[in-house]
Amino acid sequence: LNRRLAEFGTTIFAEMSALALRTGSINLGQGFPDTDGPEEVREAAVRALRDGRGNQYPPGPGVPELRAAVAAHQHRFYGHLGVAYDPDTEVLVTAGATEAIAASLLALLEPGDEVIALEPYYDSYAACIAMAGGTRVPVTLRPSAEDGTYSLDLDELRDAITDRTRLILLNTPHNPTGTVLDRAELTEIARLACERDLLVITDEVYEHLVFEGEHLPLASFPGMRERTVTIGSAGKTFSFTGWKVGWVTASPEMIGAVRSAKQFLTYVSAGPFQYAVAEALALPDSYYTGLRDDLRTKRDLLADGLAAAGFRVFRPSGTYFVTTDIRPLGEEDGFAFCRALPERAGVVAIPNAVFYDHQDQGAPYVRFAFCKQEKVLQEAVDRLRAL
Ligand code: PMP
Ligand code: GLN
Repeated sequence: LNRRLAEFGTTIFAEMSALALRTGSINLGQGFPDTDGPEEVREAAVRALRDGRGNQYPPGPGVPELRAAVAAHQHRFYGHLGVAYDPDTEVLVTAGATEAIAASLLALLEPGDEVIALEPYYDSYAACIAMAGGTRVPVTLRPSAEDGTYSLDLDELRDAITDRTRLILLNTPHNPTGTVLDRAELTEIARLACERDLLVITDEVYEHLVFEGEHLPLASFPGMRERTVTIGSAGKTFSFTGWKVGWVTASPEMIGAVRSAKQFLTYVSAGPFQYAVAEALALPDSYYTGLRDDLRTKRDLLADGLAAAGFRVFRPSGTYFVTTDIRPLGEEDGFAFCRALPERAGVVAIPNAVFYDHQDQGAPYVRFAFCKQEKVLQEAVDRLRAL
């Protein structure tokens, strides 16, 4: 393994899911639902396979049906904020959001460019910045004692920008803290990006999983459309993480750049699933609100249960993760805690330290996923209360 990647090793998600399997534990580690998405969307994939749609290389930018559906989705949910994309020139289908992140960074960074990312950050950000030859500059979201949430210090963000900063890699709703950036924060991020002439890659894969407040796409803020790459994923929105269908919306110039990288990574993404996701995106509003309401109930079940088990809980406004502080349990090392948890309680979780450069900042925090059936969450809570 070369020096760029040496520090990354095996992703924590693979490690912890393997641990869950080996020990027969309840897996609240890796974020994937234990119930598949809508039957009719699965049927749409089967139909596409049978009808021979997408069984050979689909078009590089994605099948026209899916590009049109992505553009229609952006307009349906964010049109009132002025968001509109041309399906032919401003949408690119990718192999999940993961490829969208990689291709965007590979396309937009010069070696040595600095990238600002909110810390704790999703693990592929650091690896992809490294593969692109960039330097990551973390800006740490801090837990606030008063209201049990994490917040962004805009002064820290401002101070992190240097003459070498090329882009900000944003994520809202934010994995793993569940923070949803609000209008004031996004307004200031947009202002800074314009003032310092920065590009922004914004990972909005949890856009529909917002329980309090509202998801606002950064691209809808003044001056941002031309400098923002927005990323979405069918894995999160339709509970098909195994299909690996994601998308990018951006200006024609930025889409062209990201496509240049994508064509040499995967060339294209799996054909039949693209047709099925096109149908999924057109599901009625009740699907989207149903998904959110279901996850809100699960959030409350897990967050309340973890609090009753003695964890300090940061109740997430969005995503399907809840971050906890284990110090009230007399623990301080999240890694050690998570490695021992299968044996002690038959539950797997993720140590947030893996999402930090400043390991000391992340040490006592542990993330649990609640995209699981209620009876599974209840069983996990019962086990954790017996700790
Ligand atoms: N971004 C974030 C913040 C994520 O949590 C994830 C993973 N679930 C991804 C990107 C990757 O999404 P995908 O599975 O579509 O590649
Ligand atoms: N995004 C998911 C999580 O944060 C996992 C994705 C993966 O395993 N790469 O848990």
